[in-house]
Amino acid sequence: MQQARNRHWMYVPYDRLTDRTGPLRETPANEAGIILVESEAKGHRRLYHKKKIALLLANERHFALEQAARGVAVLYVTEKGSHGDGLLKMQAEYGLASITVMKPAERELRIDLAHACERGLRLNQVEDTTWLSKESDFDTVFKLKEGGELPNAFVMDRFYRFMRKKSGILMDQGEPVGGRFSFDEENRQPYKGQVPVPKRPVYPPDEVTREVLALVEREYPHTFGSLEGFDFPVTEKDCKSFWKFALQKCLPTFGPYEDAMRDDEKDLFHSKTSTLVNISRILPSDLVEDTSAAYVAGKIPLGSAEGFIRQVIGWREFMRHVHRVTDGYRKLPKAKLIFMEKKAEAMGASPSALHATKPLPAAYWGAASGMHCLDTVVKQVIDEGWSHHITRLMVLSNLATLCGFSPRALTDWFWIAYVDAYDWVVESNVLGMSTYADGGLTATKPYVSGAAYINRMSNYCSSCQYDPKKSTGPGSCPFTALYWTFLERNQEVLGRNMRLAMPYNSLRKKTAEERKALRERAEQEIATLEAQRMPTY
Ligand code: SF4
Repeated sequence: MQQARNRHWMYVPYDRLTDRTGPLRETPANEAGIILVESEAKGHRRLYHKKKIALLLANERHFALEQAARGVAVLYVTEKGSHGDGLLKMQAEYGLASITVMKPAERELRIDLAHACERGLRLNQVEDTTWLSKESDFDTVFKLKEGGELPNAFVMDRFYRFMRKKSGILMDQGEPVGGRFSFDEENRQPYKGQVPVPKRPVYPPDEVTREVLALVEREYPHTFGSLEGFDFPVTEKDCKSFWKFALQKCLPTFGPYEDAMRDDEKDLFHSKTSTLVNISRILPSDLVEDTSAAYVAGKIPLGSAEGFIRQVIGWREFMRHVHRVTDGYRKLPKAKLIFMEKKAEAMGASPSALHATKPLPAAYWGAASGMHCLDTVVKQVIDEGWSHHITRLMVLSNLATLCGFSPRALTDWFWIAYVDAYDWVVESNVLGMSTYADGGLTATKPYVSGAAYINRMSNYCSSCQYDPKKSTGPGSCPFTALYWTFLERNQEVLGRNMRLAMPYNSLRKKTAEERKALRERAEQEIATLEAQRMPTY
């Protein structure tokens, strides 16, 4: 007990498994003590993908072993209740004067710890230095004041330019390298085998991980997804090798094909590092600095380096700030008068600017829809807990938005299904960017398309029962009819959006008969999806 009191005790949340930054870096190992909590209440809060639970527990347990091996005292708690409950018990049992923690990334964990503090937990919250930006960076860019009204729009590009200038990454004497901040327009090629896709390394489970897999099978038998083939890196060494592989083999070809989709090469050149960065096994600073250095060394072309770095210092940081300042979308600009499906509750806010309230259909849980694009992506998510960002945006979210499925239900599905999803990233991406549920606070228009985009950017349509070139009648692709009907249905909210001027012009040119046929095809597809039975697990 006395020995425990002499250490500087720190709580390391499930998503901050690093000793390379923050108080754990600053404290000598022989003076440091860490507390890790496996909370059953958190694990059972949602029907999380089995691989997600296994990824977190296996990494937490390996992190505990790694820290113990370098001389840090470790208290590893398996707790039926919340993380806060576990910390309160440790505080009492070991007589700890106070416990330091970096301000948690997840709102849900911040609330849990605040409740524990009300019950006597002595917590010393310090800045989370794993992020690349400070709260004041975002607040300065958008001129936010404590307790003030939010602006009507947050434009990511403004924040991204600020971060590029502030960090000096890909900058040359105050100007962006290559003369532009973004090379996005060059990064939109479909993939047709132009360069071979590298074979990814696998990390077979060791004894610790096998124990975790058995626990997940036993304790979470009816949750989403499959544990089969679990091969995520779970040690610091393997996480580093995972990033090294992505940097050397994927990123040089990432840019041109970052929007491409394939049913035979599902991951293409995506780094897949979000899974490990979001639990801090790789730091975002590693991603940015190593990519920038590889560009300077001539190993990664500028378009690929910039596209990847924008995801990290741009979108990732931007989204977490939007989540913070909107309190998880509970607080939105008054001028927007966003319709809420229901009162914001503990399980999440439910804005729906387009009044989309239909439940998410069984196809998202694995019932075959007959749409090859959707079924391919859902199968990958069930198998792996992951698919890349364009499949998330232009297949899963696109279909849900077109059909009017509830943005909240879609958010919860992503939160459950993806191994890299946490509240700060999933709520911002789904409620904000992909479904337009926040009425344009984070995106200037909804990300929707008909079959033409999917057909151009993927090979899905060539194996589909539907014809992407037909929009009505037997065998027609539902996406196109859903797209035009979506625009028609939401004309009041979206009709004056300048970025949608062209599609609305095209819609106006359609005859009443054409519009009726499109409506019928769209309604038929929605009814078919809604009639499907949920699969059992
Ligand atoms: Fe998807 Fe339509 Fe293409 Fe089929 S034809 S894969 S439903 S976009």
